[in-house]
Amino acid sequence: MVEKIKVTFLGTGSAIPTARRSHPAMLLQYKAENILVDCGEGTQRQFRKAHLNPCKITKILISHWHGDHVLGLPGLLQTMMLNGYNKKLEIYGPKGTKQKVRMHLDLFVHKGSKLNLVVKEIPSQIERRDRLGQALNKGVIFDDVDFYIESAEMEHDCPAVAYSFVVKEKKRLDKEKLTKLKIPNSPLISELAKGKVVEINGKKINGKKLMYKEPARKVTFVMDTRYNENAVKLAKGADLLISEATFSAGEAEELLGKRAHLSSVEAATIAKKAKVKGLVLVHLSQRYEGIPKVILGEAVEFLKGTEISVVIPEDLESVEL
Ligand SMILES: [Zn+2]
Ligand SMILES: [Zn+2]
Repeated sequence: MVEKIKVTFLGTGSAIPTARRSHPAMLLQYKAENILVDCGEGTQRQFRKAHLNPCKITKILISHWHGDHVLGLPGLLQTMMLNGYNKKLEIYGPKGTKQKVRMHLDLFVHKGSKLNLVVKEIPSQIERRDRLGQALNKGVIFDDVDFYIESAEMEHDCPAVAYSFVVKEKKRLDKEKLTKLKIPNSPLISELAKGKVVEINGKKINGKKLMYKEPARKVTFVMDTRYNENAVKLAKGADLLISEATFSAGEAEELLGKRAHLSSVEAATIAKKAKVKGLVLVHLSQRYEGIPKVILGEAVEFLKGTEISVVIPEDLESVEL
């Protein structure tokens, strides 16, 4: 069975919340992992409304420290503490994250907090170099047996990063082939799954010939940023690119040079260049409260002729892949 990746859009608004859209927050669930990407004000109530449990959170990825993306953090941490959260909680973010988390805890969270927090700052592109001293535009920040998280520096008006969650390509045993060969259920199956040759009923069976490849799956989160090539590189081949799209193309033109955000068409450009399969637009400005189709229409028009699907989710909607 393929384990699903589920992303719930807890908040799809931007700097100022509206009746329809809460501040930015998304929850990615995969197996036992519950990864929260950004934590705008009101995120913990969105958890309740979506029937999700904040105490299941395993990691928090912060894109940047603007209020709309982090003001929900102290309240969420306090609730987790009051509910006896006893796992290790990892918080990732750009430069300055350690100090900001400490300040939040000092200001708001109960002094006797026993939360086991591990805060990790993502090195900037300048600091992240390969063995030959070349600056790397992206890097793995967490690596597990079956998935990893990658990050790249963005261009906003404060340190900002984007993230990719990648489930690794997997070799699996083909159950149909096992049935055809009448291979009985026994511990030998786990040997076959390792690609070993096993003798069953007097016959030598090569595990390698019973395997198939389950392709890698990737979800990329690009929050507040100007258009930049790092975003394209990070999103390369993603199944899903979740991108901010604060402005319409027309508005973006009027604000030329005075904005630190993506327009609908810029988000679609990243999707097209990175050859992603699906584009989800979030972080909509309050100006598009009643007319999100303006943003959606421009992206769809730009992506005409490609197979990239585009959606604008409502708060609390989710997607599975
Ligand atoms: Zn924002
Ligand atoms: Zn911002």
